[in-house]
Amino acid sequence: MKIADITGFLEQWGPRDIAWDRDNTGLQIGDVTQPLKNILLCMDLQEEVIDDALSRNCNLIITHHPFLFLPLKKLDLARDPKSKLIRQIINNNLCIYSMHTNLDFTADGVSFTLAKLVGLDNISFLAPIEKDQYKITVFVPENSAEVVGNAMFSAGAGIIGNYSGCSFRSSGTGTFFGNENSNPAAGVKNRFEKVEEIRLEVVADAWLVERVVKAMTAAHPYEEPAYDIYPVTNKNKNYGIGAIGEYENPVKTSEFLEIVSKAIDQKCLRYSRNHPEKIKKVAMTGGSGFEYMKFALAEGADAYLTADLKYHDFQSAEGKILLIDGGHYETEQKTLKTVKNKIQKHFGKEMPAGIYFAGVNSVRYFYTKKENK
Ligand SMILES: [Zn+2]
Repeated sequence: MKIADITGFLEQWGPRDIAWDRDNTGLQIGDVTQPLKNILLCMDLQEEVIDDALSRNCNLIITHHPFLFLPLKKLDLARDPKSKLIRQIINNNLCIYSMHTNLDFTADGVSFTLAKLVGLDNISFLAPIEKDQYKITVFVPENSAEVVGNAMFSAGAGIIGNYSGCSFRSSGTGTFFGNENSNPAAGVKNRFEKVEEIRLEVVADAWLVERVVKAMTAAHPYEEPAYDIYPVTNKNKNYGIGAIGEYENPVKTSEFLEIVSKAIDQKCLRYSRNHPEKIKKVAMTGGSGFEYMKFALAEGADAYLTADLKYHDFQSAEGKILLIDGGHYETEQKTLKTVKNKIQKHFGKEMPAGIYFAGVNSVRYFYTKKENK
């Protein structure tokens, strides 16, 4: 198995095109064509992570936060810690790969993991991402509809939420007149032809359109397949921001805080005043997500869990929602286990490599031993 087999699978699950435009997901450094040894998962590429990778014979390190984010202007191999790490990475033929906001915005990613950890039911995306979808309509002879449809599905079209293979097919009559240079698959050239055809319609995410059209034209029997591509304005259900779900029976706020604390291994939670007393509907965005609280309010959530909150953010939640800061690392790091499970489930017994975890929280906490009097 090559490293590219793993990264290719990760990009099917969390396509790089759904990430923020300013993000830098995907390969950071390395050669993905080399055989895979073991995999190391971490939030951030710290020095200790490289040591861990070498001691566990890992040559693929998957980080959540991109290792290369701001442009590098020089490699100061004597003084700059990042440059030194790059030298170590290259010298040891390691591959560094990042899955960042594409892991945030995919189903079963960062926020869905968090929602499952706190035990919510009916989990869905909190807000849509601004990524376009298109409708591709193709006209195909009846006996080729199946093969053309399947080719488009295989290229990633026709996925709506939990359903794949979604299409609509209606029948009608297609007409054409092939000129002297034509070579029609049905009928003959220089004659006006009428053929029973299927109008086959599928949706596709913007970044898949080219691939889907290529697959469709390869499978289509006509020399010049007729097709239309048009933008649709419906919300993309396949990817989104945050997660929202609910408890079957409301829980007391104190109980809910306890659930969150245990779920993310965070002993100290910061939360807002004047909050609802019972929690039923809960929204969350792992990492920095205060800007999405407005979606939680619009959905009527009783609580919103995120991180990196400022003092005045808590004030703005008062009387409206229970706003909780669970810590950036804590609200994201559990997703690494989801990444491990996804890879193992997908590759099953073919998976030759071990998958390990590394790295630590960049934020330290101090607990005083003195009791406050
Ligand atoms: Zn983060």
